[in-house]
Amino acid sequence: MPEAFERYLDEQLNGLREQGIFRTLRQLQSPQGPRSTIDGHSVINLSSNNYLGLATHPALKQAAINAIEEYGVGSGAVRTIIGTMSIHEELEALLAQFKGTEASLVLQSGFTANQAVLGVILGDGDLVISDELNHASIIDGIRLTKAARKVYKHNDTADLERVLQESQGVSHRNTVIVTDGVFSMDGDIAPLDRIAELAERYGAITMVDDAHASGVLGPHGSGTVKHLKVKRWDIHVGTLSKAVGALGGYVACSRKLRQLMEHRARPFLFSTSHPPSVTASCIAAIRLLQSPEGQQLIDQMWANTQMFKAGLASLGFNTGISQTPITPVIVGEPARAMQFSDELFKAGVFAQGIAFPTVARDKGRVRTIVTATHSNADLEEALNVFESVGRRMQLI
Ligand SMILES: *Cc1c(COP(=O)(O)O)cnc(C)c1O
Repeated sequence: MPEAFERYLDEQLNGLREQGIFRTLRQLQSPQGPRSTIDGHSVINLSSNNYLGLATHPALKQAAINAIEEYGVGSGAVRTIIGTMSIHEELEALLAQFKGTEASLVLQSGFTANQAVLGVILGDGDLVISDELNHASIIDGIRLTKAARKVYKHNDTADLERVLQESQGVSHRNTVIVTDGVFSMDGDIAPLDRIAELAERYGAITMVDDAHASGVLGPHGSGTVKHLKVKRWDIHVGTLSKAVGALGGYVACSRKLRQLMEHRARPFLFSTSHPPSVTASCIAAIRLLQSPEGQQLIDQMWANTQMFKAGLASLGFNTGISQTPITPVIVGEPARAMQFSDELFKAGVFAQGIAFPTVARDKGRVRTIVTATHSNADLEEALNVFESVGRRMQLI
């Protein structure tokens, strides 16, 4: 490669090292479970998005195996050529029913689902108003459009209204308000009920990215909109890669928006559809969520969450403003957060360290996610480790 390029790579990598944020990838050497083997150590795993344990659920595994036997391993084309299989449509009908919308469209991932829908509803002459802490895939999805963009303060509906008012003088074709349903760093919930009221008043379209809420919040894990009993909500994006346990993203919406996406959504038009195994596991997962077993898993996850949160709080840790199984343990400086994560790992608990610039400089943390499959003994043991490491590092 050209020498100048090699120099560029060195400079960039050294920059990361100097900031103390260069990292190598941890390797998972076992299934994604409540206890996993990571880099050769058996640890309690508090960093997976596998909220309900579905990533290794026998029903999902069997569905994938059956689909491979019946249809093979690949779909062979993009959806618009000959890559739409009957099971793709079956999953979409199921998701629409799950979300209470007329239709849905499945994309390769949650990331591309945001890109797909934002690219269709936003163009020159439109306005998008976005929560300042929205996920990177929303930010990138917006960047790929020619729409005017404004940001409102995190979960602050007064600030959102200020932006809506300011924008009234200018005529926009579509005005879209977009927010995460559950925010992945703090575990707090967006006030969709108040956002929906403002949208109604100002004639805006509402869009939520419910990646961390699907399978977690609302009846049968149907998401934040139903959790908050919001009546009218326009666009629901979700992921099939977290609580649902497999891979993919979807947009649940009106039939007309789905039809337009079939013609215009670029990840839909230009990237191959899911392999049959993934689609079949997702179908099995959504069916499971709607069954008594699914509700039991969700209830268990919440019981575990409450127990673990209460344990951390009684030890004196700062767990922030979380309302969901995502529980940060906030310790401050970036280096301290990373050291806390390392020490926990050595003592048998994996909780990812997260620091500036992902969160504010003084809000470095380890982030924990409790799942339905952690036993009481796992969580007691994890709390003991948090206690001993926390005391040693004088965090409590
Ligand atoms: C994880 C996540 C995504 C991406 O979903 P994938 O299916 O992993 O691509 C999108 N939005 C939010 C809010 C997320 O947390």
